[in-house]
Amino acid sequence: SVLLGILSGLLGGVLTGYLLYTRSRSGKEILIGIKRHQFFVMYQPVVESRELRMTGVEALMRWEHPEAGMIPPDAFISFAEAQQLIVPLTRHLFKLIAADAPQLQKVLPRGAKLGVNIAPGHLHSATFKEDIRQFAASLPPDYFHIVFEITERDMIQEKEALGLFQWLHDEGFEIAVDDFGTGHSALIYLERFKLDYLKIDRGFVNAIGTETVTSPVLDAVITLAKRLNMDTVAEGVETAEQAKWLREQHVTYLQGYYFSRPLRLAQLTEGVTFSEDD
Ligand code: C2E
Ligand code: CA
Ligand code: CA
Ligand code: CA
Repeated sequence: SVLLGILSGLLGGVLTGYLLYTRSRSGKEILIGIKRHQFFVMYQPVVESRELRMTGVEALMRWEHPEAGMIPPDAFISFAEAQQLIVPLTRHLFKLIAADAPQLQKVLPRGAKLGVNIAPGHLHSATFKEDIRQFAASLPPDYFHIVFEITERDMIQEKEALGLFQWLHDEGFEIAVDDFGTGHSALIYLERFKLDYLKIDRGFVNAIGTETVTSPVLDAVITLAKRLNMDTVAEGVETAEQAKWLREQHVTYLQGYYFSRPLRLAQLTEGVTFSEDD
């Protein structure tokens, strides 16, 4: 019958979609994606909390797959790591950012911070230092302040991390601890590494305003960062109430949909304005 035909058509569509998605999860697809320019970068503004001025952006990668559509980075980054493809993928990211740099210079002042996420598989690869050097050399000289974002879990993974972080500092880069509060914190490492920023995971930020009392862990994280002389960045700020509370706690930087979603380069250069709500 017609109905059955439609039904099987629908089912077929769903199935093909599923199969394509599964197929897209072969390592080769990532390499093809790189070749065919399926990856691009979005930039999310970060504002300092006193005057709510944009001080920089975080680069967030996107994969626009021709059949599967937008594949979220949470899915393809860990997949690339599992397929031993995180190094070529991150090198590609570096090239994309370098290509965007002239446009970025038009909206970001000299000294603006450019946040770049580094996956653990790349951090601990043999070519890491060389890749970073090449990336830096591909950017306009002395313009951006590169902040490498590394998740909490990578700090505890490797003893060699200490040497790598020292090297990054010597080369003039800054380091942020990403998703802080979600990993198994080894606070001793935090003290030893002397990193620059602590990014408060959005899970904590979400809870502001929804609970009668804010999280004691959030309070402790903010206090800890201050004691360690680290600047704080609150992630996932979505409401005026959250922004207000975080500003009152003197969290240094704010990032989230309330200020701006991640933007395509063209949207960013069209001009971003921030308004202060009460
Ligand atoms: P992340 O580093 O914690 O990045 C912040 C994520 O939160 C981004 O998701 C961003 O779009 C999202 N976000 C920002 N503001 C808000 C908000 O107000 N509310 C909510 N609900 N979400 C918000 P995205 O772009 O999907 O990236 C997810 C994760 O994938 C990133 O988490 C990062 O760990 C990883 N990732 C993204 N791009 C790259 C990359 O180029 N390299 C590496 N190694 N990892 C990347
Ligand atoms: Ca990040
Ligand atoms: Ca994060
Ligand atoms: Ca995250």
